[in-house]
Parts: sequence; structure tokens; C-alpha cells
Amino acid sequence: MTRGSESIGRRALLRLLAGTALGAGGLSAVSPAFAEALTARALHKPHLVVLDPGHGGLDPGAIGYSGVYEKDIALATAREVARQLEASKRYRVEMTRSDDAFVPLQDRVAFAHAAGGELFLSIHADALPNAGVRGASVFTLSEKASDQEAAELAVRENKADLIAGIDLSRHEPVVSEILFDLARRQTNNLSIRLARDLVSELGREVRLLNNSHRSAGFAVLKAPDIPSALVELGCLSNRDEDALLQQPAYQRKLATGLVRSVNDYFDFVAKA
Ligand SMILES: [Zn+2]
Repeated sequence: MTRGSESIGRRALLRLLAGTALGAGGLSAVSPAFAEALTARALHKPHLVVLDPGHGGLDPGAIGYSGVYEKDIALATAREVARQLEASKRYRVEMTRSDDAFVPLQDRVAFAHAAGGELFLSIHADALPNAGVRGASVFTLSEKASDQEAAELAVRENKADLIAGIDLSRHEPVVSEILFDLARRQTNNLSIRLARDLVSELGREVRLLNNSHRSAGFAVLKAPDIPSALVELGCLSNRDEDALLQQPAYQRKLATGLVRSVNDYFDFVAKA
């Protein structure tokens, strides 16, 4: 409700940031999320983090060793992350679901766009064929999938909506493609930075998988303009980790690691 009164200043500042601090040889293609993050800092506004608890409703996700549902672990932990983020006063949080509801994948990404999310964290728990394997891990979108999906998205959507401060309709199509590509690459780089922060901060709290940062073509990671990662909190297929993941104290430890990585990420963006 307060956005209206801020919108002129915010837009002017976005344009300023895009045109000066971040402009590279006149090509001022910065992703909206990145520009928003810098703007929020300049205006002392809380950053908007979108949390996405996986699955829900008819879709239970993975089913654990004890029979526990992934959807319930994901929601409980996401709520704790939200609580800690908001308690810091540095962040506002929007959740793609706040109860046991089924939300289609594309709606989750659309929700993050509509909310103006600066960061998107999808929260899951894994189940692997080998019940001996345990540990948390982090996924980012693979570069290959990203290229294809982003290209398709670019055709479907109004590209001007995807890039801050740039009216693509005024440019030749080839220039639009280049600007879009620059913004998408920047988002990918920031997502990889975020994933590294997640791995190192989660690793201080809980056990990690050996291969703790992987990439895949997850639908919820396909926003070309919002840095994002998908966290697998642990392996529900492992008896010990199944039990741990249900404990509020363990969920608090996971949340602490996640919140520190969000802090690291925005500290990095602020210095960029
Ligand atoms: Zn899942």
C-alpha cells in the first residue's frame, strides 16, 4: 500500500542505477531483482525474499523413511526461515504457499514476479534410492536448460516486463535479444553466488551431501530475472535424517544457515 508514494523515487533511482553505476558502455541491462536489491538498500527498504515451500495439497512430494511428507517438512522449515528473516528487520517475506495447498510450478514463478521478489528460494527435502546417503544440497538452474527456457520465455512474454528500466520495444529485435541475454546471464551469476553462500552457511549447521551444489532444469528456477536456488534440506530416505528433519530444533538450525546465506548474498550485492 505504501508503494505508490515511493514509486516515482524508486523508478528514478532504478534508472539512475541502471544508467550509471551499473551501465556498461551504455548497455544498462541489469536484472530487475538486482536493481531492486540496490534500490532497496539505497532507500533503506527491507529486501523482499520469496520463499517457496515445495509441493503441497494433493502432491506430498517425497515420502520419508517414517512416512513423513516432504511437503510438511518444507512448509515448517520455510515458516521458520520467514520468521528469522522478518525478525532481522532487513527483509520482507512472501511465501508461494503458507498452508497445505497445491500450487502449480508456473504459478510459483509468476507469484515471485508479481510480488517483486529480489530473491527466490525453493525449499524441498530429497529422497534417494540409497538410504545410506544423507545431507543437504543446493540446486541452481543448469546453463543449458536456462538458455532454452529463457529463450522460450522471451518469445512468450513481453520482454519489457523482464528487464528493469529498459523499454525493449524501442530497440531493434537484435538489441533486445542482447539486453535480455545480459540480464539473464547476470541472474545466473547471482544465482550461482547465492548457491555458494547456501552451501557454505548450511555446511556450518548441518551435514551436506558430497556433491552439495548441482544444477538441473527445475521449473521453479526458470525466472530469467530473479536470482534463485532450490535447497534440498536433507534426505528423507535416510532414517536418521528423516527423524532430524521433523525436529523443530533441527529446522531452526537449517533456517539459521539459510538466513545467513541470504545475508551474505545481499551483502555481496550491496558491494557490487
Ligand atoms: Zn521436492
